[in-house]
Amino acid sequence: TERTLAIVKPDGVNQKKVGEIIRRIERKGYDIIAIKMLQADEKLLRQHYAELVGRPFFPGLLKYMMENEVVAMVVEGDNVVKGWRTLMGTTNPTEATPGTIRGDFGRDWPGDEVRNVVHGSDTPENAEREIKLWFPELKR
Ligand code: ATP
Ligand code: MG
Repeated sequence: TERTLAIVKPDGVNQKKVGEIIRRIERKGYDIIAIKMLQADEKLLRQHYAELVGRPFFPGLLKYMMENEVVAMVVEGDNVVKGWRTLMGTTNPTEATPGTIRGDFGRDWPGDEVRNVVHGSDTPENAEREIKLWFPELKR
């Protein structure tokens, strides 16, 4: 078994897709072992997106990720890192396959950051790093 960090981003919360997204996670058979709603701050996001801090779109990404609260979850299951990214769809919602979360609910706005509804860790190692960052209170 494996764990990943899933986040419903501010646009997902604004569009009232939290329930639909949780439904898809549970329908796939994954276990949600921790969940909370929180307002991300700049310090957390700079650590979370450490490899993107220097990119030209980073200021827009920060603003986007702080425009509403987010729902963070630790999701557990066999091969869940890859499986959750399959449920999410590709980064750019314009290109994401219909039926995926980003394909169904993602929008991109000309000249703006990518509003793609959800986050998922990209490797099991990053998942454990991100879980520590977002759920320091989770003792395992
Ligand atoms: P996430 O890490 O949020 O699950 P991802 O792994 O598909 O998404 P990353 O390359 O890790 O994509 O980028 C993190 C986030 O930064 C993206 O989800 C998107 O919101 C934003 N982003 C990535 N590339 C761009 C870009 N070229 N222009 C604007 N925003 C971008
Ligand atoms: Mg990523």
